[in-house]
Amino acid sequence: MEKIKMTTPLVEMDGDEMTRIIWQYIKDDLILPFVDLKTEYYDLGIEKRDETDDKITVESAEATLKYGVAVKCATITPNQKRVEEYGLKKMYKSPNGTIRAILDGTVFRAPIQVKGIEPNVKSWKKPITLARHAYGDVYKNTELKIEGPGKAELVFTDKDGNETRKTVFEFEGPGVLQGMYNTNASISSFAHACFEYALSTKQDLWFAAKDTISKKYDGEFRDVFQKVYDEEYKEKFEAKGITYFYTLIDDAVARVMKSEGGFIWACKNYDGDVMSDMVSSACGSLALMTSVLVSPRGVYEYEAAHGTVQRHYYKHLKGEETSTNPIATIFAWSGALRKRGELDGLDDLVKFADALEKASLSTIESGYMTKDLVNLTTLDDIHVCNTQEFLKKIAENLKELL
Ligand code: NAP
Ligand code: MG
Repeated sequence: MEKIKMTTPLVEMDGDEMTRIIWQYIKDDLILPFVDLKTEYYDLGIEKRDETDDKITVESAEATLKYGVAVKCATITPNQKRVEEYGLKKMYKSPNGTIRAILDGTVFRAPIQVKGIEPNVKSWKKPITLARHAYGDVYKNTELKIEGPGKAELVFTDKDGNETRKTVFEFEGPGVLQGMYNTNASISSFAHACFEYALSTKQDLWFAAKDTISKKYDGEFRDVFQKVYDEEYKEKFEAKGITYFYTLIDDAVARVMKSEGGFIWACKNYDGDVMSDMVSSACGSLALMTSVLVSPRGVYEYEAAHGTVQRHYYKHLKGEETSTNPIATIFAWSGALRKRGELDGLDDLVKFADALEKASLSTIESGYMTKDLVNLTTLDDIHVCNTQEFLKKIAENLKELL
């Protein structure tokens, strides 16, 4: 069989520990035999980040802006323990944070649904994609503990020194106080990313906040979304037959529970933090969760939602058998290859991405799975695989499909 050709390179961001091991297996067994893979390789493994004073991370994000699509392996975000473990020059920032800041992106997460591992919510037939606005609000708050009686005020001083002042509360005894903010630039870029992603995946978009109570703050979120939609996306949505609507967060929660899934749910920062854990745990496992960073300029970076699976890596180093689930990392590759194929008009590459996903899911559906899925599955005839056996099984299925 002739290998599938690519025209534009994919930005490949390698990573750490067990996921780095799996990364190589996936390339060797599932991609290189079928695709004439073109990548621009960046090693974001912790040693290389240390060696380059983390410049490699910045360069990989800049390459993503240039080419448009990246695939990223999970990476260590160092803490003090990691600094000692690897003898690092300093405690580098989270690569994901650095990349997100450069791409100005929003992260979309969706469970991978597979027969035999059913969501706890029975009506969910299709995945629910959660988009979290990862900027500001309570995550950048300023707080005060109030010790006794006094007046709390909100004061804004503009650049000419003019003050706007509002009383928050007249305290008669001890209490607590909090100030928070967001910017229209950030809200607007979040809205753009959500609309772009809805178009690119042909799914409806829901956005919810609490504008009945927070009339100005949440009201601004609602209005920015509506304005961006009316001015730039309404016609495109209608042409694709998808819809956008805004509703109250409590109404959204009730509707989500009764829905069939298959839409994007855009959430403010706190709602997204809470609701993404609800959706992912109702669907089973982080190892069955895809994650894609979408910039408002339509640049995409695909990854798995889980970390580097450190505990399994230490077992691997001792020569012990591991049973690490590679599905989310495989889907990062398939997502990136499919997007590259779509952008470059390469049908064969898109078809290959579809086949790779199908082969992965049908492997689980036929009862072959890693340990983490055994407790979740409703299938009877199960074969527990180690990391490599599972990948070999997928490779066999893929060969048959192609
Ligand atoms: P983790 O890698 O998400 O793993 C936590 C536990 O979840 C594992 O020990 C394992 O449970 C289970 N698990 C996660 N992914 C799995 C998979 N694919 N297959 C089977 N089981 C899986 O988190 P961590 O071990 O606490 O963190 C390790 C490193 O990852 C940290 O240095 C952190 O900074 C980094 N991290 C990176 C990212 C990213 O790059 N996007 C995200 C999160 C964390 P059992 O041990 O019970 O089998
Ligand atoms: Mg959380």
